[in-house]
Amino acid sequence: MVYLGRYNIIQRIVAIRPPHPSLSSNVLAWRWSDNQLFSSKLAYEKIAESEDWIHHTNWNVIWQKGVPERVRTFLWLSKSDCLLINKEWARRHLTKSLLCPICHTEEETVEHVLRSCPIATTVWNRSVQPSKLLEFMRLPFDDWFTVNLRNQGGFAMNIAKWDTFFLTLCWMLWKRRCRFAMEPGFVESSDMFTLCSRLAKDFARCNAARLGG
Ligand SMILES: [Zn+2]
Repeated sequence: MVYLGRYNIIQRIVAIRPPHPSLSSNVLAWRWSDNQLFSSKLAYEKIAESEDWIHHTNWNVIWQKGVPERVRTFLWLSKSDCLLINKEWARRHLTKSLLCPICHTEEETVEHVLRSCPIATTVWNRSVQPSKLLEFMRLPFDDWFTVNLRNQGGFAMNIAKWDTFFLTLCWMLWKRRCRFAMEPGFVESSDMFTLCSRLAKDFARCNAARLGG
């Protein structure tokens, strides 16, 4: 995408002829195809040409992970800064609070929800080797994703498929946050670590069966 600057954008808008009965009627047209029709394939090819795309190598890693599509989609949204955290809700005038809806102690960010909110910290404490915990909690957030998605860092404590567990837990933490925000009186009843371990094993088993079949 080319950044034109505010003045150029205004000039471009001013140059657009307003609709008039004497002109032909407006039609929707996709500028990047010969027949002006939109297709997802062409849109993908166009986006893939941009340099921004090349820098998001994590995206390829995400799509190759052996977890259900809904988990991969969540992670893609997360990496694309598209999760509706309270900052976004506030920007849309849907809430006045920027605080985490769970602990109410810090401004909500994706990093807070997935890593530093007290409940997230509690589960990571049970999942990460004690000698590595400080490093795990202090890694820059982008690196945190990259290292764990690639099974690097040696953080796992007795967890065989660390990347699957990591992705599953991030997804569960986000789902939990949404339930807290959307369901008044929501009370958690399950042990998240045990639940995540079970679910991650199921995901790994399904993926192995899929690849084997
Ligand atoms: Zn919190």
